[in-house]
Amino acid sequence: MPKEKNLKLKKKTFQAPKGTFDILPSDQVWREKICKIANEVAKGYGFGKIETPIIEDTELFVRGTGADTDIVEKQMYTFKTKGGDSLSLRPEFTPGVIRAFLENGLSSLPQPVKLYSVGPLFRYERPQAGRYRQFNQINFETIGSQSSATDVQIIQMFFVIFKEIGLKGINLQINSIGCKDCRPAYRKVLTNYYRNKTDRICVDCRRRLKENPLRLLDCKEEKCVILRNSAPHIIDHLCESCHNHFKSVLEFLDELEIPYMLNSYLVRGLDYYTKTVFEFWPEDESVRQAALGGGGRYDYLVKLLGGRDTPAVGGGCGLERIINQLNAQNAKINLPASPRVFLIQLGDLAKKKGLKLFEQLRKENIYITESFSKDSIKTQLRLADKAGAKVALILGQQEVLEKTIIIRDMAIGVQETIKQDNLVKELKKRFSKK
Ligand code: AMP
Repeated sequence: MPKEKNLKLKKKTFQAPKGTFDILPSDQVWREKICKIANEVAKGYGFGKIETPIIEDTELFVRGTGADTDIVEKQMYTFKTKGGDSLSLRPEFTPGVIRAFLENGLSSLPQPVKLYSVGPLFRYERPQAGRYRQFNQINFETIGSQSSATDVQIIQMFFVIFKEIGLKGINLQINSIGCKDCRPAYRKVLTNYYRNKTDRICVDCRRRLKENPLRLLDCKEEKCVILRNSAPHIIDHLCESCHNHFKSVLEFLDELEIPYMLNSYLVRGLDYYTKTVFEFWPEDESVRQAALGGGGRYDYLVKLLGGRDTPAVGGGCGLERIINQLNAQNAKINLPASPRVFLIQLGDLAKKKGLKLFEQLRKENIYITESFSKDSIKTQLRLADKAGAKVALILGQQEVLEKTIIIRDMAIGVQETIKQDNLVKELKKRFSKK
């Protein structure tokens, strides 16, 4: 093959895998703000940060999330390692957090143990707006309490976060899906309701009817939605304990003035939920395609994963969906301030000394930027202007030898030469005046 042709073939460019995206420096402003607020709220409410691996034993999700849930059945990235183990990219946080809670002896700490995580999750989905194959979640778990106050505290924290980032119009939808005492009876009632209607539901729902009839309430197929609208409500079938728990959750929400909508069809597609389930939805119809987040109580999961009987509750919100929603609301964010000082260097010696001077000023918390890759004064002054710097420092060979530096006021163009030893003091004086 001629050399040139060979070169052309090698010139293949690459794209991020379908459903994934790069997060560029210019995308970081909202992300950093949201994560900072989430961290502060989490700390304020006594949640400790936990980071678990992105990969886990596949069986953890099969047993924890549930073998016949959509997440495990259709959306998990699973692979065999060279050693023959089956691992999966985490599609959600909770099973990994509970595994870590048990493995690291956190179960012997005073209960409840409150943990939060921020990071990427992976689901094989058909990509569309707000639905990606790699996305990020902010997630809270309170492990070791059956108090309804802990359910509400997680909901409250998300509302505090929404408020502090300036996100408006978020509705809480809430339901109770009972426990192992009352759910079986409701399942029977529901199965009876659908029994002679199987020709009017989708293929998936026909299967769900045998495996997990509650999931029929979750189906988005139009014909299933129509039937569902007349289905019996689970809250009419709760046992006393679940009824009281739900009543108390609603009372706490009233006390906190968090408005909610009861949604008897909210079941959340996972196996492990008991009692309270909730979701956050945008009020605005035009961006209603997806929930911002959700969660619920999961009183049996810790035991299912090998621990003692430990009630728990948790919830997660998608970072990208929050940002999409902020953008849809044209929410404003303060852009980072411009650097105050721009260091201009002229000649090799000045470049060498300039590197050191830059670090000295940075360490003094003076917001400084530079252009070490440039040589001409004209270019560097133009860049200083573009960066919005208040002051340019000009360091040439003569200044290095005399241990001086030129300070130029960028607004009026006036320059003066001062001793380098007085530079920090002079800059602080100038900036304290403004
Ligand atoms: P779920 O556990 O499926 O209810 O997900 C909780 C939250 O994670 C959702 O409300 C979204 O904010 C976010 N989320 C879930 N799946 C995706 C996805 N494929 N892409 C972006 N965000 C997602």
